[in-house]
Amino acid sequence: MNTKLISAYDDRGEIVDLSEAAQILREGGLVAIPTETVYGLAADALNGDAAAKIFAAKGRPQDNPLIVHISDLEMLDGLVKEFPEPAFRLAQKFWPGPLTIILPKTDKVPPETSGGLGTVAVRMPSHPVARRIIALTGKPLAAPSANLSGSPSPTTAQHCVHDLLGRVDAIVDGGECGFGVESTVITLAQSPPRLLRPGAVTFEQLKGILPDIKMDPAVKEKLEQGVTAASPGMKYRHYAPKAKVVLVDSDLDSFTAYAAAHQNGKTVALCFEGEDKIIPLPCVVYGKRQDPLTQAQHLFDCLRQLDDMGAQMVYARCPSQEGIGLAVYNRLIRAAEFEVVRL
Ligand code: AMP
Ligand code: MG
Repeated sequence: MNTKLISAYDDRGEIVDLSEAAQILREGGLVAIPTETVYGLAADALNGDAAAKIFAAKGRPQDNPLIVHISDLEMLDGLVKEFPEPAFRLAQKFWPGPLTIILPKTDKVPPETSGGLGTVAVRMPSHPVARRIIALTGKPLAAPSANLSGSPSPTTAQHCVHDLLGRVDAIVDGGECGFGVESTVITLAQSPPRLLRPGAVTFEQLKGILPDIKMDPAVKEKLEQGVTAASPGMKYRHYAPKAKVVLVDSDLDSFTAYAAAHQNGKTVALCFEGEDKIIPLPCVVYGKRQDPLTQAQHLFDCLRQLDDMGAQMVYARCPSQEGIGLAVYNRLIRAAEFEVVRL
């Protein structure tokens, strides 16, 4: 397949005419699009054949449902059975933005999109290019992260090209994503509501709107064998570079001593800004220690850099679990396949 590359902005920074991307989507094709979280691989969410192509292009397990992206609230008609009052309050506060809400679905949502579940995940992104493409297409768009399944999510068009060139109809380049981690996912399809995946809309912020919200255990820990995942995506190996990754929860001195003493092949430290001057190993800096947003913005690109460097063993500094730091921690423990050393 020939993949068309489309620049979203002209020289003056204005969004170009994106009707070609919308046309491909209306005809059941696949287009990688920028959003404020990560790049999404979009297809018509109400066309089961189009949604099925996403799974083939990504190598995504069939039971892992897709998030459906809308550009206005009217698009919810025909997607969800009802939009209850708490959902409305969340939408008022956090939409457009990086929050995904799971609700019971209508029959119009095909099983390919919902992964065979009776619910559907919906989100209204804030990225102007994503919004323009959804509005021009005139249909809700299913769009999981535009990476090969299992590899780090894409935060630049170059990441999408690396993973999906020849596998999708077009890739729209809108520059770097703002947050760099995927959306916060909560379910309102059960009571009390539950945080399934942390993101840039934080657990603390959600508690302000939904005081009874609970955190799913899979946010911070490995699911026990035989337990059904509330969110099927949480049970798969994820975000992993080729190297073995170990998360080290300690102060900098203990980290440095541990990493230096446990080298195994080409060993790299994934650390915070400034620490690369102290750690006596090759280092990749993923953000400022006190600023989890900078960590979120760079983490996935850093995981890809580790592959480019040929890293075989990676020791990662542990982020805090406060605010957006929880999203960074959630992604890193999956990249580390839950191997955490506490010193
Ligand atoms: P991705 O779009 O690749 O970042 O993945 C979407 C995440 O949302 C995955 O972890 C899915 O399992 C989860 N998800 C999407 N729809 C649902 C749903 N209806 N119920 C539970 N989890 C969902
Ligand atoms: Mg993904």
